[in-house]
Amino acid sequence: MSWQTRIHEALELRHQAAAFRVREVNEGGSTRWLTQGQRRYLNFSSNDYLGLSQDPRLIRAWQSGAQRYGVGTGGSGHVTGYNREHQTFEQLLAEWQGYPRALLFISGFAANQAILTAMLQGGDRVLADKLSHASLLEAAAQSPAILRRFTHNQPDALAKMLARSFSGETLAVTEGVFSMDGDGAPLTELHQLTQANNAWLLVDDAHGVGVVGEQGRGSCWAQGIKPELLVLTFGKAFGCSGAAVLCDDATADYLLQFARHLIYSTSMPAAQVCTLQAALRCIQQGDALRDKLAANIARFRTGAAQLSFGLSASSSAIQPLIVGENQPTLALAQHLRSQGLWVTAIRPPTVPKGSARLRITLTAAHQPEDIDLLLESLNGCSYRISE
Ligand SMILES: *Cc1c(COP(=O)(O)O)cnc(C)c1O
Repeated sequence: MSWQTRIHEALELRHQAAAFRVREVNEGGSTRWLTQGQRRYLNFSSNDYLGLSQDPRLIRAWQSGAQRYGVGTGGSGHVTGYNREHQTFEQLLAEWQGYPRALLFISGFAANQAILTAMLQGGDRVLADKLSHASLLEAAAQSPAILRRFTHNQPDALAKMLARSFSGETLAVTEGVFSMDGDGAPLTELHQLTQANNAWLLVDDAHGVGVVGEQGRGSCWAQGIKPELLVLTFGKAFGCSGAAVLCDDATADYLLQFARHLIYSTSMPAAQVCTLQAALRCIQQGDALRDKLAANIARFRTGAAQLSFGLSASSSAIQPLIVGENQPTLALAQHLRSQGLWVTAIRPPTVPKGSARLRITLTAAHQPEDIDLLLESLNGCSYRISE
């Protein structure tokens, strides 16, 4: 075996499974519209749930931030990269969420990796919902702790695992709103269980924050819990990028000592932090945007209930249409594309085998006629599929 052979064989396997991934060049923004080459598509694949990535208030904040601070921080937060704006935003986030502290990370992926690898030691265990995001499961798998996965959204399954006597520390892990299925976790029950068993709970609310709960505070707020570790990401409803963890004082200080992704990585540009502060204000005052999104979701679900695909249990902006095998899923996505609709096919290993799907995401930037067009095209496809 050589490096070349290994690489060639791995690629060949991906091709055979119709699972080869490519990136497609987008010429413009990624909210309601997406442009590829000369063609413009209605975009149903973006996580920009409130349309904030194109919001003039955020764009102005980025511009004036760059003018004031330049475009880079020159180092990690432990050296020169902790600006007044970083501190202010961390305090705003902590206040908004009702936690003592917030720490900024460059991305949700980095935050999850950093937290899990810093917290977990040999002899500990992670009990994770089976459908948790790759950034969580991979970090847990790489850590010296034991990783066990419990049946998706089944507190009983977690309870059984917790009931086994265990001498190390236990961290339970779940998402607020699941990224590929769009359903919400039973957070109140999960947190009751972890509290009763001396374990900690980490909730990754990448898809809930900004969208769910009063002022968009997220899934945990909506369900009345404060998990010991709450991860928020800013690449979705915040329309930007980055992440934060909300926790108590001692845990924040601990992460500042031991989270390698903070210590050995350049902090996010101050201009970006200014943008995130503007996004936070938009989200706090964003009831009209959330209402518009909710109306779009309701419109889609009412229409999709008539189709032969089977509607998923999701009431969130993520509305998957589960097709099953890879080939027909790709064909469907291709057909929609030929009609000017951009919907990404999601295949294993991102989702379980045999559950390839169209991951449709709705946003506040969509117009009712966009939803109708999507439904019309899907209706045409469902005839094709059953033929
Ligand atoms: C998108 C996502 C992440 C990764 O966040 P980035 O900021 O994009 O790196 C982590 N967890 C979940 C559940 C996500 O959906």
